[in-house]
Amino acid sequence: MPQSFNALYQTTCSAQAYELALTMIDEVFAAKYCFVGRLNSHGTHIDTKAFHIDGTTQPNIQYALDCTPCADAIESKDVCFYEDNVAALFPDDLMLTELGVNAYIGVTLRDVKREPIGILVALFQEPQQFTEVKQQWFQDLAFIVAAQTRYDIDIDKKNRLVAELSLRNIVFEQSKEAIMITDSENNILRVNPAFELYTGYRESELVGRPPGILSSGRHDAKFYERMWQQLKQQGHWRGEIYNRRKNGEVYPEELSITVNRDEDGSISHYIGLFRDISDWKESERQLRFYASQEPLTGLHNRRSFLERVEQHISLYRTTKSPSSLLFLNLDRFKDINDLYGPEVGDKVLVAVALRLQNSVLSSDVLSRYGGDEFTILIVDSTPEQVLFCADNILSRVCQPIRLGELNIELSCSIGINHIDQDVDSATVFVRNANHAMLSAKRAATENIVVFSDKVEGVYLRKIQLRDKLHKALRADELDVAYQPIINNITGRITKFEALARWHDAELGTIYPDEFIAIAEEFGLISLLGQFVLNRALADLAAIHGHGYKSIAMTVNRSATEFNHLLHPVEHILSALETHDIPASQLTIEVTESVSINAQNQVENQLNKLRAHGVKVALDDFCTGYSSLSHLIDVRADYIKIDKSFTQQILFEHKHQVVIASLIKIASELEMEVIAEGVETQEEQAKLQEYGCHFSQGYYYSQPVPLDKAIDLLHRYNN
Ligand code: C2E
Ligand code: CA
Ligand code: CA
Repeated sequence: MPQSFNALYQTTCSAQAYELALTMIDEVFAAKYCFVGRLNSHGTHIDTKAFHIDGTTQPNIQYALDCTPCADAIESKDVCFYEDNVAALFPDDLMLTELGVNAYIGVTLRDVKREPIGILVALFQEPQQFTEVKQQWFQDLAFIVAAQTRYDIDIDKKNRLVAELSLRNIVFEQSKEAIMITDSENNILRVNPAFELYTGYRESELVGRPPGILSSGRHDAKFYERMWQQLKQQGHWRGEIYNRRKNGEVYPEELSITVNRDEDGSISHYIGLFRDISDWKESERQLRFYASQEPLTGLHNRRSFLERVEQHISLYRTTKSPSSLLFLNLDRFKDINDLYGPEVGDKVLVAVALRLQNSVLSSDVLSRYGGDEFTILIVDSTPEQVLFCADNILSRVCQPIRLGELNIELSCSIGINHIDQDVDSATVFVRNANHAMLSAKRAATENIVVFSDKVEGVYLRKIQLRDKLHKALRADELDVAYQPIINNITGRITKFEALARWHDAELGTIYPDEFIAIAEEFGLISLLGQFVLNRALADLAAIHGHGYKSIAMTVNRSATEFNHLLHPVEHILSALETHDIPASQLTIEVTESVSINAQNQVENQLNKLRAHGVKVALDDFCTGYSSLSHLIDVRADYIKIDKSFTQQILFEHKHQVVIASLIKIASELEMEVIAEGVETQEEQAKLQEYGCHFSQGYYYSQPVPLDKAIDLLHRYNN
């Protein structure tokens, strides 16, 4: 069934549209009678605008609404229908009996204010079953017909106006703006037709009376005082004003009043120009709505949220009513986006927004602050209550989300900042909550952190390190240490892992776990990566110079480096060329999480590198995303078992099983396994028992400077 309505949009006049609508009813319903009717201005009669019997066009008719099913339909907001015996239900509607009508379906046509303006009806001699699909179709059709009817009514009005105006003259008569002229005493002399239209008053009702008759009562005496004062001083006033129509309706308008003076300078008239701005006001309201809403979730946007917080802070200064700010960030949201696509990402955000809405009170202010960040202003609550609320939010948000076949696991980090004397602006209030959130993100065990001096200290150190790292990178003050990787069959060193080292004169040694994160966060990682790569390859050339020509180098790369650099692959290849190192002697280590998404652009770059002969290692395997089945999709030369996992090999049966299977599967898939963090002879023995290809760890050596690395080669490889 449902027929497409497209053709209706292509009709050129209303008569044609109505005809087509009835033809469609004939086709879908095979009605005995059907018609489009317009309600007369008193609401008592229907004048048909198109009328069909048995599918053929008939002359139009007029009928009284009273006691007919149409009268009921006019009242009804939805589809009004009777499937059988309608004539018996409306015994006073003689026409129904006369026409032998048994079933009825009708929908009221309404104007933009939802007032009835007409009706679309079909009548049947046989009993009918109006299924939901049929009702919906009929209602949709009526919706389009109503639009046409509204248009007709507008045109009729305009035509009437033009007819009247042609009888009168001048701008005054034709103006779209309502005009009122008062005498020097401010009594009404004349008003134009537009004015009559807007206000509902006839000119004859107004002449001789003061304009106060239109007053809405919304403006106080001061408002009018100021208006008159300006009129007297400047001869002109313009502003927005609420007036009242004859029917009592208050409406906003733009009013401009000009003083007209005689030749002698005394006031002869006031001329008032009105423009109804209700529509405009409505659009303004909507605009304001959109301006303050984040379109995806319907929550406050950042700007509107900050405004609310700002208001709250000034209130706090007098009321001292406690409040807190929650800053929530989804963990690994980017992975969800990368893995399932942005549409799924959007659905997740909407679902989270809904969960948050269900977790707070309506007096709290909730915003999507940006990306996967949400902020909540919790008002009138003690720190204990806020913590309880945050716990509740955490457990709700961390429920898996089901989207069709997908089951998406979620987690998040929450930072809390309680208001106090020191909070002097919304941005500081939010910023500190954000810092607390970041510290929750860094912490392995906590998902909720309350802002404190300690959190602030961490933040300050971060900023300090960022600045120092920047300087150190420019001044070439970083170092690279080398940790040997041992071939478990030969017992010889096959390669070194290059690890960045940083010693600051003031702060001492800063460890990569701290400064790599900072470099990533503040966009310094590419600079750092290039430095390490160049230094490592230069040092490898030196190692080769000592006669150890088969030694290879492995270098860490962050995923962000692949995304930041314009030509990440070309950079690496040109460094190899500069130092005259064969591509096969370089391995690039990326963490396992990076390659989880097969379409990921990082993966593409890695494949390009492999095509050039560069090797790829998956670092930190068995953490976070570990899944043996994932191995099948992975295209890498080496898998590196994370040190946290290696170090359990003697104690945890589970770990033993995983490591043994990993080595077996990887070998079958032509990948080799490197165990990291090997510290003891026992661990090394176990790994060898499982057939692990390579080992790396303090058992053999700490990461050491180049000269020490060469000493190690003398020891192991001679
Ligand atoms: P990673 O790539 O997993 O590097 C191995 C880390 O384990 C190194 O820490 C190393 O010193 C340490 N390690 C080696 N053997 C043992 C052992 O037997 N026991 C224990 N407990 N630890 C051992 P490091 O040098 O502090 O580096 C930490 C992380 O920083 C690295 O983890 C790597 O992810 C990152 N990193 C280091 N240098 C760079 C770099 O140049 N670029 C990038 N993007 N990341 C780097
Ligand atoms: Ca590594
Ligand atoms: Ca690792």
